[in-house]
Amino acid sequence: MKTLIIGGGFSGMAAAIALRRDNHEVDLVEIDPGWRSYGAGISLGGATLRALRELGVLDAFLEQGYAGDGVDIHLPTGQLLATLPTPRLAGPDVPGGGAIMRPVLARIFADATRAAGAGVRLGCTFSAVSQDRDGVDVSFDDGSSRRYDLVIGADGLYSQVRQSLFPDAPKPRYMGQAVWRAVLPRAAEVTHAMMWVGPKLKAGVNPVSKEEMYLFVTEDRAANDHVDPGDFPALLSGLLATFPAPLVQQLREQVGRPDARIVYRPLEGLLMPRPWHAGRVLLVGDAVHATTPHLASGACIGIEDALVIADELRRSGDVKEAFDAFEARRWERCRMVVENSARLCDIEITGGDKQEHANIMRDSLIALAQPI
Ligand SMILES: Cc1cc2nc3c(=O)[nH]c(=O)nc-3n(C[C@H](O)[C@H](O)[C@H](O)COP(=O)(O)OP(=O)(O)OC[C@H]3O[C@@H](n4cnc5c(N)ncnc54)[C@H](O)[C@@H]3O)c2cc1C
Repeated sequence: MKTLIIGGGFSGMAAAIALRRDNHEVDLVEIDPGWRSYGAGISLGGATLRALRELGVLDAFLEQGYAGDGVDIHLPTGQLLATLPTPRLAGPDVPGGGAIMRPVLARIFADATRAAGAGVRLGCTFSAVSQDRDGVDVSFDDGSSRRYDLVIGADGLYSQVRQSLFPDAPKPRYMGQAVWRAVLPRAAEVTHAMMWVGPKLKAGVNPVSKEEMYLFVTEDRAANDHVDPGDFPALLSGLLATFPAPLVQQLREQVGRPDARIVYRPLEGLLMPRPWHAGRVLLVGDAVHATTPHLASGACIGIEDALVIADELRRSGDVKEAFDAFEARRWERCRMVVENSARLCDIEITGGDKQEHANIMRDSLIALAQPI
């Protein structure tokens, strides 16, 4: 089949790699001429590592990122409350979680996309899509056009494909919380994910390589206001001041480093009701299920989408049948991730019930461990 993928994020690139394995002819268009990914860490759970293994990029992740078992949960003072187990879903030889710098993971995926033989066009997007019973005609903004058997819209939270197919779809929603992230030298004792949970603020660290780790802090913010990047170090340091744990205080002293690469990101979410397709055009990833990062599973479910649509197209060969089967397999898992993450976000914003928070974390991790 001839497939067009619109959007070269993790979901789109995973779809390109998965479909090329089945000999689909794949074009991928990415609007950003530099195919950039911003410089923060990304945490990957066991289910994500399992998906990376299936895509054939796990070894590259293990070489260039960092994998570890368990998540330590502490009080703000540093006292250890519990260690959440992270089952080894990618195999007994692979730890149950990990992290990597986003641009490094994006490069691994981009290299695999090109190596798989997808035709990648950067700085390019669609200008018009029209379809009939047998195919989809797509015009591009470089003046070219081509007919495809199916189109996959993987163009993220502000998806233009979603907008053109489903103009009445819900819009992304600001969730009332923002995340700060910074990259620091890895402290020797940080060998896996660690968190410090305050009444409303939460801080955490996760190694992204042997040398570096990323630090994150979630902050409740009623309004999605502009924050001046010049103020980032002082604001982040102020938030960390509320965690007396010695390790956090040690890190606080380092956030003013010129190489700390602080990123501030207000959180938004979106869960589009089914259907996720119109005719021969299917939406995947953040375009239909953008989650807050409370379960560190947004990239995971987008990459899994790619594996499942490839699987269903292999099974059926009929586009409509495959899209229906895809949605039936994906809806409940993606809904669970988006809604449970949003609930965790609400509990943190309101300083709500910590036991409910812990229960949701545990139940979600059990659900994520299920086969897809
Ligand atoms: C603060 C934060 C922290 C997160 N942390 C984690 C984490 O630790 N673990 C995790 O698993 N997930 C995390 N996530 C979620 C994860 O980043 C996303 O779920 C994932 O990146 C979605 O991938 P995607 O490919 O669907 O969309 P995107 O990453 O948004 O990619 C869409 C791509 O499409 C391109 N594009 C856009 N419009 C067009 C167009 N019209 N034509 C062509 N191309 C277009 C864009 O340039 C982009 O390359 C986090 C999210 C946030 C906001």
